[in-house]
Amino acid sequence: MSEPVVIVGSGLAGYAVARELRKLDAEMPVLMLSADHGGFYSKPMLSNALSTGKMPESIVNGDAVQMGAQLKIAIRPHCRVAAIDQSNNTVILADEERIRYDSLVLALGADQIRLPLSGDGADEIFTVNDLDDYKNFRSALEGKRRVGIIGAGLIGCEFANDLAVAGYHVNVIDIGAQPLGRLLPPAAGEFLQRKLEAVGVVFHLNTATQSVDKIQDRFRLAFADGKAVESDLVLSSVGLRPRTQLAASAGIQVNRGIVVDRLLQTQSPRIYALGDCAEVAGKVLPFVMPITHAARALAATLAGNPTPVQYPAMPVMVKTPACPTVVSPPDFSIKGEWQVEANDEGVKAVYRDEAGRLLGFALLGAATKEKNNLTPQLSPILA
Ligand SMILES: Cc1cc2nc3c(=O)[nH]c(=O)nc-3n(C[C@H](O)[C@H](O)[C@H](O)COP(=O)(O)OP(=O)(O)OC[C@H]3O[C@@H](n4cnc5c(N)ncnc54)[C@H](O)[C@@H]3O)c2cc1C
Repeated sequence: MSEPVVIVGSGLAGYAVARELRKLDAEMPVLMLSADHGGFYSKPMLSNALSTGKMPESIVNGDAVQMGAQLKIAIRPHCRVAAIDQSNNTVILADEERIRYDSLVLALGADQIRLPLSGDGADEIFTVNDLDDYKNFRSALEGKRRVGIIGAGLIGCEFANDLAVAGYHVNVIDIGAQPLGRLLPPAAGEFLQRKLEAVGVVFHLNTATQSVDKIQDRFRLAFADGKAVESDLVLSSVGLRPRTQLAASAGIQVNRGIVVDRLLQTQSPRIYALGDCAEVAGKVLPFVMPITHAARALAATLAGNPTPVQYPAMPVMVKTPACPTVVSPPDFSIKGEWQVEANDEGVKAVYRDEAGRLLGFALLGAATKEKNNLTPQLSPILA
């Protein structure tokens, strides 16, 4: 093979493929191109860095030079791929340099969704989806006391817990009736809400943030229900949108994510995708465990042994220490219902279909100890 495997992206997905590939083939040329610094870090650590006493710099396990030496791959940081020329097996960089590939792996991640808010403070709202975002957010936090968080999903709740425990006054605003509305039944959402309130988080639910206005060095967030809060800075965490544009403009099929089959292969035989940018056999799963499984399968395929990805059930730990939570979100397109047992210590919610099969669960507080009993009862996501 004369041309390298080109991996675009140096997040967990890009690095997982590189690492798995090296286990199988010590010699195959690999080139990683990354729009960012190219260092390796664990993104989930961003939302509990305050309580774990980490500064952004100390989250990095290795910079691009160190990682390149460790994995014996070439890494080019600050190098954005602007286009893909499929017919010539070439990527085109922003400065028009052309690089040929033998196989191309798209590990492009996702963008934080930005709500179209009015007000002269809307452009100063932070989002955190990578280390650079987090560095900016942490330096803006210095000397501040109040943080408004738009969105009570997984990332919003994790940051709310982390900031509240570190002494910040945290307001969380969400259009839904409860935190983690897409993952938890109401009784579990209420339990989580109470536990986060106990560490100082203030929720404003069932209302949309409409505008963010700047008043001197503060922000005023106004809600659809007529209420408003003031805050020193604002973080938005209302969801992710897979980065599909590069693939789409090269004529590669995209849907919610870059469409790939169980070989992680797009409709173009030499082009693959995984991680937050990918829609694997119809599923967009923006979490670490799917990346681990996908990277292992893809590395085997790239090394010459075509291997379909298998996804076992993959419960997600929510990093809210005020309320330990683990969820295995059910496929709600399958008819079923939640069965909930709740008390002061915790909530056990299991989602079963009409035949009584376990399709998912949410365990909070003391009930998290049931995780190891319940997980083996779940069917694999992709068998
Ligand atoms: C705060 C936070 C906490 C989280 N906590 C958890 C958790 O507890 N458990 C869990 O399972 N998941 C968690 N997640 C989700 C998990 O971190 C992600 O699923 C995972 O990190 C995604 O990795 P990725 O490599 O697909 O994408 P990314 O890490 O976003 O990497 C994308 C890479 O592509 C590069 N790139 C993009 N476009 C181009 C281009 N055109 N040219 C060159 N390079 C490009 C970027 O620079 C970047 O290097 C969390 C996410 C966040 C934001």
